[in-house]
Amino acid sequence: MIYEDYAIFTPGPVKMSDEILQVGAKQTPYFRNSEFSDVTFACENDLLDMVNAPEGAKVIFLTASGTAGMEAAVMNLLTHNDKALVVNGGGFGARFVDVCRTHSIPHTNFKVKDTNLSDIENLAPNDTHNALIVNAHETSVGLLYDLDVMGKYALKNDMLYIVDAISLFVTDPLDMQQSNIDVIIASSQKGLALPPGLTMVILSPKAMTKLQTINSLYFNFKDYLTNGERGQTPYTPAVTIMLQLEARLNQIKKRGGITQSIAKAKEVANYFRESIKNLPLKEYTPYLPNAMTALTPTDGKSAMDIVNALETNYKVMVCPNGGAERDVVFRVAHMGEMTKEYTDILIDALHDYYGVARP
Ligand SMILES: *Cc1c(COP(=O)(O)O)cnc(C)c1O
Repeated sequence: MIYEDYAIFTPGPVKMSDEILQVGAKQTPYFRNSEFSDVTFACENDLLDMVNAPEGAKVIFLTASGTAGMEAAVMNLLTHNDKALVVNGGGFGARFVDVCRTHSIPHTNFKVKDTNLSDIENLAPNDTHNALIVNAHETSVGLLYDLDVMGKYALKNDMLYIVDAISLFVTDPLDMQQSNIDVIIASSQKGLALPPGLTMVILSPKAMTKLQTINSLYFNFKDYLTNGERGQTPYTPAVTIMLQLEARLNQIKKRGGITQSIAKAKEVANYFRESIKNLPLKEYTPYLPNAMTALTPTDGKSAMDIVNALETNYKVMVCPNGGAERDVVFRVAHMGEMTKEYTDILIDALHDYYGVARP
């Protein structure tokens, strides 16, 4: 089933701009040459700029989905002599726990609920850890953590601070230096609004000193860094998505830069939240990112029924939750090529579904 004529508000893949789609329609060029190296260098420089990376930071480009970035970061940076504090506030936090377990990295499964950890000092288990791992925006419940406070906590306790920023990249503030972040993981199909398949791991100089010799060929970061010196990757990269990334980063700059990109996402998110205030829907958490709004019905309706009705009757795709939350929460992304006008499609559909006029 292809949803080409549907309005999409799913948290990845997200709506792409025509400009980016056009890059994807072209023949994929050969890449072992200086022309493509220049593309890689341009992407790396823009990405580092965008997150205010410290001097000497590097970007590793992996041809894989975001989870590979999460796993590769853990594989390359932690050993069985480390102990990681893994923030687990939902499905993606649980995935980091699985990654640590899979690679036998000692860790604490730090389960949290209804907190953005601005009080991590008091909430964290009283145990010694030398790494702090978090999904900046826990996409399964639409909750944004306090990256600054956690960074101060990591710095004070001499922890390597690994942040999966996949679902807030370019929609919410992200500053490596201000938040003392050592590692950022980003991927193509969320706020960057590109096709899935490209993942970026940004390493601070401090993170680079922790790189291990690992038992993996494809995910060996040292290889990526060596090849990166000449703007290349060890194996065939997602060439077309790299070209789309270059175009997207230029697009962001042309539109006023990252600050403007974040402001736009915030404006659209606030517009959506304001426009559905008269419906029996409540925000699932007070710690909302610009990237997404997770909603819970207040009239006893099933969230899953709403998701299905939007799809079947209005050709609008939002995202259901699974498991125990299936009937309790659904999610609306504001990532990608979003405007108020486009968001009106969903706002109107919701009002029609409830039989309530828009204010
Ligand atoms: C989407 C997402 C990922 C990546 O998932 P993949 O399906 O592997 O691309 C990782 N972390 C978070 C927080 C996400 O939202």
